Amino acid sequence: MSKIAVIGAGIIGVCIAHFLRKNGHEVILYDQNEPGTQTSFGSAGLFANRECVTANSPKLWKNLPAMLLSKNGPLVIDWLYVFTHLPWIFRFLRNCTTARVEHIAKSLSSFSSHAKFAYEEIFNEVDVSKYIVHKEPIYLYESKELFEKDQYALNLRKKYNVHFDIINKEDIAKMEPSIEPIYYKGIVFKGERFTKSPIQITKKIFDNFIRNGGHFVLKKIDSIFRKGDSLFLKCDEQEHYVDKIVVAAGVWSNILARTIGDNFPLDTERGYHIIFENNSNLLAHSVGWAKTGFYMTPMDDGIRAAGTVEIAGLKKSMNKNMLTMIEATARSILPQLGKVKSQWMGFRPTLPDSLPVIGESQKCKNVYYAFGHQHLGLSLAAVTGKMICSLIENKPTNINIEALSPYRF
Ligand SMILES: Cc1cc2nc3c(=O)[nH]c(=O)nc-3n(C[C@H](O)[C@H](O)[C@H](O)COP(=O)(O)OP(=O)(O)OC[C@H]3O[C@@H](n4cnc5c(N)ncnc54)[C@H](O)[C@@H]3O)c2cc1C
Repeated sequence: MSKIAVIGAGIIGVCIAHFLRKNGHEVILYDQNEPGTQTSFGSAGLFANRECVTANSPKLWKNLPAMLLSKNGPLVIDWLYVFTHLPWIFRFLRNCTTARVEHIAKSLSSFSSHAKFAYEEIFNEVDVSKYIVHKEPIYLYESKELFEKDQYALNLRKKYNVHFDIINKEDIAKMEPSIEPIYYKGIVFKGERFTKSPIQITKKIFDNFIRNGGHFVLKKIDSIFRKGDSLFLKCDEQEHYVDKIVVAAGVWSNILARTIGDNFPLDTERGYHIIFENNSNLLAHSVGWAKTGFYMTPMDDGIRAAGTVEIAGLKKSMNKNMLTMIEATARSILPQLGKVKSQWMGFRPTLPDSLPVIGESQKCKNVYYAFGHQHLGLSLAAVTGKMICSLIENKPTNINIEALSPYRF
């Protein structure tokens, strides 16, 4: 059995640590923050079983001007940031051709189709039943035009077995009577579920890992390096020997990758959430709103409106306009919403093709990467954990991750 350091205790790192410890390895999980408190804290809570649609789309050119001009759109761009990061933007656009989007959808659906089974393995051992709601999320279109614009994505989902039903106004009103009837149609994601507390999902898996003999060190890792055949981590000016390292540091992963000579086109899609004071029974499902790109999910601490995309890097502070837009739209959909309890922004880790990076470093043997899960990190964390475990143990799996190779760029 190996001594393995996992860097990053977001949902991805915690699930990796879970599977490695379960298989008997000595596992040390490092994070400078408490587990699950960064990007993983603020998600909309959806477990998407088979999602295959990403931000890359051949329709982007056609839809982009309207998206950018709309005051209430799902996408906001800081042009100064974009102009200083043009190579990333070009790479992203190269991944918006029909052929590339088909490749992305096929690769993602083949990976995400194992997501539910991988979580079942964890949930059989870790009781999170209190935090899981077995109600299928719904996604609503305000107008016929928006519904028709989304046909390309819906056809892609059909092709790659993402199961959904189309629902009309009457169905929606029965499912969610408190929502203003300002919608045209919707879809229901069949067989999916959501959590009432993303932080508790991470925390419960983490607590189980510690109970089973895993270790946690509340420290920032500064670098990874080799001395001869041996592998080390550096933190607080001290060197720590390990057999293997997994970099699962979300959007910050490339900082560590660079210390061993790797360099990945990792950027961020900033996302926001607002929590409204608890209005019990106002919503039963997690409800997405196509026009503005966020979901409203009934959570333990209130109704959380979470989503949207802002391209503006890691340094800029929260965009108040984005929060104002989310609040105003949420109130127009659900006028009975209570007071705003809290506001949050987080950093989705995103590669230009929206596929995660999963695999071993070619620059430094025994260093593995698991980051870049963009909008789907909560959903894909367990299958990522299983995959990393198989790679480390050199065991064959039926999951093909060629498309997720760190060296595909
Ligand atoms: C608004 C919003 C809504 C979302 N909704 C959903 C959803 O409904 N369903 C879904 O599947 N996904 C959703 N996502 C995406 C999901 O939240 C992310 O993909 C996921 O949280 C990424 O997890 P992570 O573990 O890679 O990153 P993080 O949670 O950010 O964890 C990375 C950890 O690494 C640590 N770290 C970084 N550098 C170092 C270092 N040098 N040393 C030690 N530790 C380090 C950080 O402190 C952090 O704790 C959403 C995201 C946002 C922003």
